[in-house]
This record gives sequence, structure tokens and C-alpha cells, in this order.
Amino acid sequence: MQKERLLKVLVIGDLGVGKTSIIKRYVHQIFSQHYRATIGVDFALKVLNWDHQTVVRLQLWDIAGQERYGNMTRVYYREAVGALVVFDMTRASTFQAVLKWKGDLDSKVALGDGKPVPAVLLANKCDQRRHGLCSKLPKLETFSRDHGFIGWYETSAKDNTNIDAAIMCLVEHILAGDADRTPMNSDPSLLILPAFDYNLQERSSPICSSCTRLNPYHRD
Ligand code: GDP
Ligand code: MG
Repeated sequence: MQKERLLKVLVIGDLGVGKTSIIKRYVHQIFSQHYRATIGVDFALKVLNWDHQTVVRLQLWDIAGQERYGNMTRVYYREAVGALVVFDMTRASTFQAVLKWKGDLDSKVALGDGKPVPAVLLANKCDQRRHGLCSKLPKLETFSRDHGFIGWYETSAKDNTNIDAAIMCLVEHILAGDADRTPMNSDPSLLILPAFDYNLQERSSPICSSCTRLNPYHRD
């Protein structure tokens, strides 16, 4: 008999980076330039026949309104087992906010064994590469590893690039973990924000061929 796993996955990042678009693309296979801003918290469900034994009910939790403050309530984070941390590769400020979001996540939820909730970093809007921060992207590999992400992807909700791959990577990682782990809140006083010295705006960003490479963390 198949067993069901309900996975609560958060989609966090600054306003306008494409969180709602990523969820709509993944769950409904649609993209629009004109979403109304999400009000409050919303979630979408996707059911995946993962393997013969497992059906995954994936809840993708969206946010809006609170993005401005770079933090969310504990109720939003409660029982999350994974996160997508999204930035817009055409806007440096949204990349600079990534650590704030990761810090907020890690301070408000952890797995039952105290380990951080697995998070994947998404550099969204890669279809806009020519307006982007390409010269910096090779650094994402080191950046994401140094800051505890399990991997990173360049994505486009518009072109449907790497959205499935990123979410599959996260779900695989979650399922490979301890099946019985239960989330718990961690002590916010343990939060130490890592030093951050990436200044994306200082360098020019010519079209960069290395941006077209596949994510090295992705397994086929
Ligand atoms: P959110 O505030 O993070 O939920 O961002 P939205 O999903 O509302 O997206 C903000 C804007 O960016 C909208 O106009 C989207 O159409 C646009 N957008 C989202 N993802 C992409 C993408 O991958 N490529 C491009 N070119 N635009 C995108
Ligand atoms: Mg939104």
C-alpha cells in the first residue's frame, strides 16, 4: 500500500522576485505578467506519485505583504520541512536579502533533530539574463554552500526553466532524510547572521556564457 507524505514547503524572498509565478507555473503550468499581489498567506497543493510506496502531497506556501519586512510569523514557518529562497537575478537588492530570509527561516523553524530545514536557492528570471547579474553567478555555488543551502538553480517561471528540477531536488532531499522527523521551533537567540560582503552593483554584468551551464548540484 502507498503511504502519503504531506510536505509543507515555503517559498520566500523579496516582493516581486517571482514567488507566486513559480508556484503557478509549477502547480498550474501557467505564467502571467499580471498577477495580483497575494494577500496574506496562500498555499497551493500538488500531488506527486513519487514511487510505488509514496504519494507526496506537496504544499507550496506563498506569502505577500510581509515580504517588505524580510520576516514572517512563526505560524507561517511552523512544520515546514523545506524552503525555496528566491531572488530576482535582475535586482541586486533581492540577492542581498537572501541571507535575511535564510536567517529568518533558520531562526523560526528547524527539523526535529535540530538540523536546519533544507533550502534551495533560486536565481529567478534567468530569461532576463542580459539584464542580470551574470558576472556574479558563478559565485552562487560557493555562496549557497557557505550559507547552508542544499543547492541552487537559475530558474524562469516565464520560460519554465529548472522549476521542476529545483523542486524535485528539494523533495528528494526531504524524503531522503529521517522519515519521522518532526519540525520544532528553534531559539531565535541562536540566530547569527553570517557576514555578507557581496556587492553586486559594483561590478559590470556583461552577458556571461558561464550562466548557461547546468547547475552542478543537479543530478539527472
Ligand atoms: P512575488 O511578489 O515574488 O510573488 O512575484 P510575482 O510572481 O508576482 O512576480 C512579479 C513580476 O515578475 C510579475 O510581473 C511576473 O510576471 C514577473 N516574473 C515572475 N517570474 C518571472 C520570470 O521568470 N521571468 C520574467 N521575465 N518575469 C517574471
Ligand atoms: Mg506573490
